[in-house]
Amino acid sequence: LFQNTPLAGPDKIFHLTAVYASDEFPQKINLGVGAYRDNDGKPWVLPVVKKAEDILINDPNRNHEYLPITGLPTFRAASAKLILGADSPAIKENRVSTCQTISGTGANHLGVLFLSRFYRNDVPVLISKPTWINHRDIVNNVGLEVREYAYYDPKTNGLDIDGFLKSLNDAPNGSIALLHACAHNPTGVDPSQEQWRKIADVIAAKGHYPFFDCAYQGFASGDLDRDAWAVRYFVERGFELLVCQSYSKNFGLYGQRTGCLTVVSKNADAAVKIESQIAKLQRAEVSNPPAYGARIVNLVLHDPKLYAEWNDNLRTMSSRIMDMRKQLYDKLIELGTPGTWNHIIDQIGMFSFTGLKPSQVQVLIQKYHIYLTDNGRISMAGLSTKNIDYFAKAVNDVVRN
Ligand code: PMP
Repeated sequence: LFQNTPLAGPDKIFHLTAVYASDEFPQKINLGVGAYRDNDGKPWVLPVVKKAEDILINDPNRNHEYLPITGLPTFRAASAKLILGADSPAIKENRVSTCQTISGTGANHLGVLFLSRFYRNDVPVLISKPTWINHRDIVNNVGLEVREYAYYDPKTNGLDIDGFLKSLNDAPNGSIALLHACAHNPTGVDPSQEQWRKIADVIAAKGHYPFFDCAYQGFASGDLDRDAWAVRYFVERGFELLVCQSYSKNFGLYGQRTGCLTVVSKNADAAVKIESQIAKLQRAEVSNPPAYGARIVNLVLHDPKLYAEWNDNLRTMSSRIMDMRKQLYDKLIELGTPGTWNHIIDQIGMFSFTGLKPSQVQVLIQKYHIYLTDNGRISMAGLSTKNIDYFAKAVNDVVRN
């Protein structure tokens, strides 16, 4: 048995981290992994998360019972409110179905699974070129076809808006358009509000179904409302859509697998039916979602003082990242590194698409022990005031030679 099973290659990002871990060079840097690090290169437990954990641990009623199939009810409601806005028309009209999921990955999975069963399975899921490494496999796993839309323009290191609109236009009517709500992974390039309006126009004209993936709300700009702007704009325009939320980055709850899937539909009747079917899908796959992370987020979202502190923590993370962008840009300019580097400060969120070529990336890895994916993507969180000089000089060297 299984003699002919093909060997699957390792996941690129997890593989890179393993090679980094086994490297003994003292100045090594890991810019591959998409997890926040503090200025000492250490994982950061948000102070507000520590407080919430204290409250949970000291709760005399604490237990380890199952959550309901669709998750912790108060967490689900707060999560929908967080992404759609407290006075969202969709929430007021009870046409929102929210299910707690195995973080953002689980939300993406449940989202495409639900659509494959109850929307259509004869249209492609349109994904950006490039996109998060996992989108393609998640979509293919439920039997849907993937088609790429133009997104990143290597000439400008910015958005190819004309190509993007054309791809949407050329796709079959009613396709599922997978959109990054903010802080596009891997490029760090987001549409402007003006561009989002044009994107919405084409999606409306073609009858595409908007599928938002939101993995960085609050983490990108430090402002929860700003990072939710595109999703709320689409809801205001009356689209039926769905949105995946992850609390990995904005709460630092990576391993706790905390997330939500929210479907916005036409009316309350549809919302009840959607929720019932999503619950049925979830039951067969995970029975019920993990409780710990959801309880932490739930506490913070319902307590005004903790909520304010969370906002502070978000600003701590996003401003450190923005500061690293600025410092990297300044140093490359100071060194006179050939090329333009504005994109480093224009891009947003965890990642930056540097424009470095695969051959240059290889030199960074082999000669400098700086680990990044061969598409030239770097996690800004891997940079600190302690290693940024070393990194800038290494980039300067590989670009010149
Ligand atoms: N979508 C995007 C675009 C992401 O970048 C990520 C995290 N890398 C996720 C979803 C999901 O991550 P998680 O399952 O840890 O929430």
